[in-house]
Amino acid sequence: MTARTEHLLDWLRDAHAMEQQAESMLKAQSSRLQHYPDLKARIEQHIDETREQQRLVDECISRLGGAPSSLKDMAGKIAAFGQALGGAMMTDEVVKGAMAGYVFENVEIATYTVLIEAAKAASDAQTEQVCRGILEQEKAMAAWLLDNLPAVTHAFLERSATPGETAKR
Ligand code: MG
Ligand code: FE
Repeated sequence: MTARTEHLLDWLRDAHAMEQQAESMLKAQSSRLQHYPDLKARIEQHIDETREQQRLVDECISRLGGAPSSLKDMAGKIAAFGQALGGAMMTDEVVKGAMAGYVFENVEIATYTVLIEAAKAASDAQTEQVCRGILEQEKAMAAWLLDNLPAVTHAFLERSATPGETAKR
């Protein structure tokens, strides 16, 4: 195996672990949301996309002769995002969660941008094509979250100002 292919395989394993982390974060967010149906629906759509991304990345890894990494291999690398999830108990968790989601999607955008270049360098056209497809889904999710942050913030503030209403999720 060439050094370029080894780097590609290594980064695909990181991406696979990242997508497992994404799925657990998104599931945790969606299961807690009660009063923000648009956000909940978009997160649920992205959970389906994320599961398919895991499958596609896993296929690329297998094709190159590797085995996917486990979630715990990646745990240290993305420990910082645990802090974002720690926001789940905060009184403004819907706002913090949408912000953390936007940050996470941008990490995914960076990851697939690197993978596309690595796949090109390793002359792996199939992996390049897969990563380009996933990149578009991550960009769409990041754009949706950014576009909807004002509405989420507005709805949160309105609910907060209404006696008897739960605002945080
Ligand atoms: Mg993803
Ligand atoms: Fe994503």
